[in-house]
Amino acid sequence: MSDLATWLKKAESVKPASQLFIDGKYVDAASGATFDSVSSRDGRINTKIAAGNTEDVNRAVAAAKRAFDSGIWSEMNPRDKKAVMLKWSELILQHKEELALLETMDTSKPIGDTLAVDVPGAARTIQWYGEALDKIYDEIAPAPRTALAMITREPLGVVGAVVPWNYPMIIASWKIAPALAMGNSVVLKPAENSSMSALLLARLASEAGLPDGVLNVVTGLGAEAGQALARHMDVSKLAFTGSGATGRKMLQYAAESNMKSVQLELGGKSPQVVLDDVADLDACASAIAWGIYYNAGQTCNAGSRLIVQGGVKEELFARIGDFIKSFKVGDPLDPSTQMGPIVSTLQKDRVNAYLKLVGAEGESFAFGGVAPEGNDCLIQPTLIDGVKQNSRLSQEEIFGPVLVALETKSESEALEMANGTEFGLAAAVWSGNIARAHKFARKLRAGTVWINTFDMSDVITPFGGFKQSGSGRDKSLHALDNYSALKTTWVDLN
Ligand code: NAD
Repeated sequence: MSDLATWLKKAESVKPASQLFIDGKYVDAASGATFDSVSSRDGRINTKIAAGNTEDVNRAVAAAKRAFDSGIWSEMNPRDKKAVMLKWSELILQHKEELALLETMDTSKPIGDTLAVDVPGAARTIQWYGEALDKIYDEIAPAPRTALAMITREPLGVVGAVVPWNYPMIIASWKIAPALAMGNSVVLKPAENSSMSALLLARLASEAGLPDGVLNVVTGLGAEAGQALARHMDVSKLAFTGSGATGRKMLQYAAESNMKSVQLELGGKSPQVVLDDVADLDACASAIAWGIYYNAGQTCNAGSRLIVQGGVKEELFARIGDFIKSFKVGDPLDPSTQMGPIVSTLQKDRVNAYLKLVGAEGESFAFGGVAPEGNDCLIQPTLIDGVKQNSRLSQEEIFGPVLVALETKSESEALEMANGTEFGLAAAVWSGNIARAHKFARKLRAGTVWINTFDMSDVITPFGGFKQSGSGRDKSLHALDNYSALKTTWVDLN
């Protein structure tokens, strides 16, 4: 993976695409407007990105609809569609370095992670749905012998995908790949902080043979391009990942336009419940640290709430502290860095505002703390002790490298605390008694529950939330339900 100097040189020479990608071509925004892609690593401007507006969204949706109606992709032989998706996945891996660099320059994710996780993760998702699409069979219903009743999955038309900046390529692939596998056309709106990789992904899809208009990317501001897409009358489905506040608006936009169906993957405040009979405290401490400090805590399912039984708390804190001593925080272009800066000064200020609450209700820092004011976006890994169940620190998504700890005496109180937020994205329970852990896990209200591990996942399992963490599921064959409608065709055989 070489060293910092090599990656700095590579970053100097990379030439990011910055125009919209509509109907198979890069084009300027109709208004000519742009916004800055700023690196939080050093505050430098990577490039000026086209700021799409309603007119651009209209162009992109029209191209997507034309492609869909023509049948060029929606009616293509599944075997040929599969070949395009597999080729696309291969091209992504061939452009691994460039894509990883774009993602790191945009978001300040460590280059080691974008190379090892983000690019291969997106490529694998596209490959997996490509492989799946010619193995999905429709159904024949048990109708009387005088009839043939077929149940088929039909594509929806144009899918609008609005995605966040924390895992730009991976989350985009979770929406685009199953949508394309089902024969839909897509208009993708990346987050303002992370447009560059999406623009290259779209060009690579075209090179792989995806027909013009089937995948379009409109970069721009959420309130303009995102809203225009969500309100568009020719968009049949909206697939969204991001904050709860924006998710709520998406439902409103759908209700006020064509009542398009909306899939939401929103935030979380996922509990890590450590019971007093935890078997392997080192493994537990390491998983807890990775679960919150990976990607600087900017992960929707981050294990951001530690609920620990008093008997093991001190020892667990000590081991998390030991882990942090060898955890390398620093320059995201240094391949040995394990945690880089927060994505933007705006997000850093949001996290800092939470850190400034510490002490108001008796909390204290076990390590880490409020980051210095200014443009440096690094926030040190932080553990806050003595947090109360109903405080803002315990209830709200901080989205930074901040773990809050709640102490409990009993298993039943631990369960009440774990389920006692508006969220339900993920949870974990740690116990040496698998029957006890399993019974506890069954009562956790979360879309993903881990026992004696954290954050293990793959495209093979569904991902999404209970309660206000969202609805619908990304990943696995279940995600295909988001992008298809069941159709009954009843044939009279008399
Ligand atoms: P956001 O919800 O504002 O942005 C997500 C996407 O929605 C972006 O593409 C954005 O441009 C778009 N968007 C924003 N406003 C819109 C609008 N009015 N209409 C249509 N589209 C709109 O999230 P953010 O500002 O990037 O982050 C804010 C908070 O969201 C974070 O602090 C974090 O708590 C949460 N978040 C969660 C996830 C997740 O994966 N669950 C990801 C990113 C952020």
